[in-house]
Amino acid sequence: MTSFRVADTSNGFWARYVRLVRNSVIPYQWEALNDRVPGAEPSGAIRNFRIAAGLEGGEFVGMVFQDSDVGKWIEAVAYALQASPDPALETLVDETVELMAQAQTADGYLNTYFTIEEPGRRWSNLWECHELYCAGHLLEGAIAYYEATGKRRFLDVLCRYVDLIDRTFGPNPGQIRGYDGHEEIELALLRLFDVTGNARHLELARYFLDERGSEPAFFHAEWQALGQRSHWARAEVSRPDLAYFQSHAPVRQQTEAVGHAVRAVYLYTAMADLARRTQDLELRATCEVLWKNVTRRRMYVTGGIGSTHSGEAFTFDFDLPNDTAYAETCASVGLVFFAQRMLQLGPRAEFADVLELALYNTVLASMSLDGKRFFYVNPLEVWPEASTRNPDRHHVKAERQTWFGCACCPPNLARLLLSLGNYVCQSGRHTLLVHQYLSGTVQLPGSDGAWLEVETDYPHEGRVHLRLRGEVAPDFCLALRVPGWCRSFALTSQGQRLEQAADPDGYLRLRGPWQRDHALVLELALEVEALEAHPEMRENAGKVCLRRGPIVYCLEAVDNGHNLSALTLDVGAGFETEAAPELLPGAVKILARGARRSEPVAADAPYRVAGAALPAREAVTIVAVPYHLWGNRGAGEMTVWVRRHDESAHVPSSARDLPDR
Ligand SMILES: [Zn+2]
Repeated sequence: MTSFRVADTSNGFWARYVRLVRNSVIPYQWEALNDRVPGAEPSGAIRNFRIAAGLEGGEFVGMVFQDSDVGKWIEAVAYALQASPDPALETLVDETVELMAQAQTADGYLNTYFTIEEPGRRWSNLWECHELYCAGHLLEGAIAYYEATGKRRFLDVLCRYVDLIDRTFGPNPGQIRGYDGHEEIELALLRLFDVTGNARHLELARYFLDERGSEPAFFHAEWQALGQRSHWARAEVSRPDLAYFQSHAPVRQQTEAVGHAVRAVYLYTAMADLARRTQDLELRATCEVLWKNVTRRRMYVTGGIGSTHSGEAFTFDFDLPNDTAYAETCASVGLVFFAQRMLQLGPRAEFADVLELALYNTVLASMSLDGKRFFYVNPLEVWPEASTRNPDRHHVKAERQTWFGCACCPPNLARLLLSLGNYVCQSGRHTLLVHQYLSGTVQLPGSDGAWLEVETDYPHEGRVHLRLRGEVAPDFCLALRVPGWCRSFALTSQGQRLEQAADPDGYLRLRGPWQRDHALVLELALEVEALEAHPEMRENAGKVCLRRGPIVYCLEAVDNGHNLSALTLDVGAGFETEAAPELLPGAVKILARGARRSEPVAADAPYRVAGAALPAREAVTIVAVPYHLWGNRGAGEMTVWVRRHDESAHVPSSARDLPDR
């Protein structure tokens, strides 16, 4: 993995977020894990470890997968420590690791729920109880902490646990021929293999992947053995729907993204990773098919995935409702992982485009600007009253929440943002591919001690300054991604304009001769564009959304007044942009010409006969703001998609001029 060092002291776009996560989110989450956030739902996560370690009495608190929050938090801290040492924070992790070591049983098992609540019943309900999922998150935390600090303690604790898992699961007599209901251990084991080089770790991941979906169905057998009773329902339930867990067919035969969206993308991440490591062409082909299905038919324009709250799941092609969307933060974090593994499998700008889309829109939108409140669900349309009064929309919140009883998303966001440097570049033998544009530095492959410096205000601006420092090898090749959204770009090298087209994979490949401190400037044109959706996306018929570079925009009531559905936007009238420092330093808002339905409506007449003439309208200036900044100015209506004013011919000409503002 090529790690890019993200500049965190500048005023750049990411520096602010990285500092926010490090200085606010991490300490805040530690308080939350310790049940010290007033008004937030208790987490119990640290206390559960204390109880399991025998240090205090009491009952298990929280979700059966509560341990995973601690794993994700430690992983985020590890990335923070990698960027800048913090002895006090490191001590906090060391103490937590010791607590976990005390909670580990003699044979290596480490799961507070089963240790406290159901001793003797471990591995009895993999269908529902996330044991291996928790193990995977603890493992990722242990790997990151080892890589950041060189300390083996946590890694050793987890390797003992992995040894137990390896003895327990497999095709041999006496082993459990199963896998987890929530994928995660697979991708974690592949990361572990990087650290240990132990083939058992790779083989165990392969076993879990290839066993999935085999006959007879493991989860059906478990359900029978449990008397058809569910852990969650505490009652008899019908037979588990295997598609929910992506275990309806062997993974190599799967062609559509189905079931719980987070599980699905964690699974695909591991599949793509294994395909690369083992040069498995069949598995690679499956990943390509699933990638296309997710990103071309089942993904929101914001990079969100998961169309329904029922099962937090994918549904079917082009079913992407805006106001009942699920689009969980974790699912887009997982989509970033999947995109990264696809890039590693064979770089194509398309993968980096989706990674960028998910990151700059759904993932960033999930956190408030003070780093203290979070969205779990990321809708594309919100009517706050419906969120509180229509039970079908209770899952859609108009304001970010402090902490969730099921707090999977905030720590997932934190670990991603603090490890952003792992998603920026990729090294070949002589080539450095630059997938994402942010300020920072990275070592060049094949050149001793040489590095690349990047400086940019992207995505607020499209200009990217790149400078090669040190002795650059003559055969070094710099490959710059031309984003899929980019209609035109200009490139200069040492002040000279270069006329060069991107390769079919979407990268501009630049070869020497390299001068000392060679300077390149890539200027990506950031034009405002109105997008329309595939006609099969019935929800978006007759509507458009606005995009500028990788940033998708939305309308909020605070700028556009009550009832956003009464607005129509004139796509043909062009767009203006305006600095919006009141939203975020550097942020840009879009002004568009539009109209609002203005005729008086009788209060007690819900319907009326439509006349031949279109309803009266008044001209308005529509203000659109970056989707990732929505909901930071109080609860109000929001929509990404706005009706297009196709009937502009019928609008009085006076209504088509931009009024004085
Ligand atoms: Zn989540």
